[in-house]
Amino acid sequence: MKRAPFSLYVHIPYCIQKCPYCDFNTYAVARVPQQEYMRSAFAELDYYAVQPEWKLRPLHTVYFGGGTPSLIEPKYYLQFFKLLKERFEISSNAEITLEANPGMLDREILDGFLEAGFNRLSLGSQSFQPETLEKLGRVHTPDQIHFSVEQARIAGFDNISLDLIFGVPEQTQENLRDDITSAIALGPEHISAYSLTYEKGTPFYKAKAQGVLRALPDDVVGDMMEELIERLTASGFVQYEISNFAQKGKESKHNTAYWKRSDYLGLGAGAHSYFRSSVDSALRWSNYALPVEYMNQATALGSALSWSDVLKPEDLLFEFFFLGLRNLEGVSLRDFKKEFSLDPLERYGPTIENLKEAGLLKVKSDKIALSPEGVLVADSVIEQFAA
Ligand code: SF4
Repeated sequence: MKRAPFSLYVHIPYCIQKCPYCDFNTYAVARVPQQEYMRSAFAELDYYAVQPEWKLRPLHTVYFGGGTPSLIEPKYYLQFFKLLKERFEISSNAEITLEANPGMLDREILDGFLEAGFNRLSLGSQSFQPETLEKLGRVHTPDQIHFSVEQARIAGFDNISLDLIFGVPEQTQENLRDDITSAIALGPEHISAYSLTYEKGTPFYKAKAQGVLRALPDDVVGDMMEELIERLTASGFVQYEISNFAQKGKESKHNTAYWKRSDYLGLGAGAHSYFRSSVDSALRWSNYALPVEYMNQATALGSALSWSDVLKPEDLLFEFFFLGLRNLEGVSLRDFKKEFSLDPLERYGPTIENLKEAGLLKVKSDKIALSPEGVLVADSVIEQFAA
């Protein structure tokens, strides 16, 4: 019997400079240790290819995220995909994404990425306003976003995603309107739009706490999100997840796999993995976060495991809603019953009823999903299922 497919994530933890709002596991470096780092990823690949959890399973998505994966030269990716194909079967319609930053993409490098095996490009464009980009500490210009997309199209990328950030201090509704217009005009297949958050430990968090940076009021950010949803859906994008919009059929398969709680293997510094071992148990683990420590462990042992966790049945029940409701199609209560052999209404009936009455959840036959009002306060709606 054919084994279930899985997803592969590879983390590249290097950036040219660290953006002041970013709390990802990334490090600004003058020189990326490409060879050493990719050698560690190869070692991990070899290690996991023979582990019973992953052995002989087909891959249906591969995602290089970061950090700035486009800092790694295409020749290393060529090597990586060669090894990957020797160890795993890659599904014929697999989605293979590279996160890239505008400003470092020319035709030659894009040709190289395409030739290596990538078929989807996710561009960290963030904004088309020079002042917003500057505030965010980004190193690219609006013109470079246009240039990157144009060059990627000429190279042959037919699946491009753009990132937008809204709710940036001093950003106006008018600025955001321009960003949306510019993004749509570039004709991407996919747009991810996130509101700026102030994560502990970041310079933005500190500046906000000290009153140096004034966050936009919640109602202004809420209005921005509403406008974004309205404009993008009116332009033919489907909002399939709280922060993600796609042309029909171009929804990110990789992210959808996370929201559907499929197994994924993470390689690279600080990368997480998830493996559902049985109906009521799953394993989650993480690699060492510091690149040097990660590289030392991976090259010496094959695995760079830093910690692992066994998810309890309680955690799995919550994840069903926590991840499933992010998908705007919602979750099926029949699927819940089938998966956990529990009646969801016995446990969550009052929660569902209250949220439905408040207009935050839609209930249709056995499906529940966030309503348009619920999407705007998604985190607080989903949290209700934790109790
Ligand atoms: S480029 Fe992206 S990953 Fe790197 S620091 Fe900026 S936001 Fe973080």
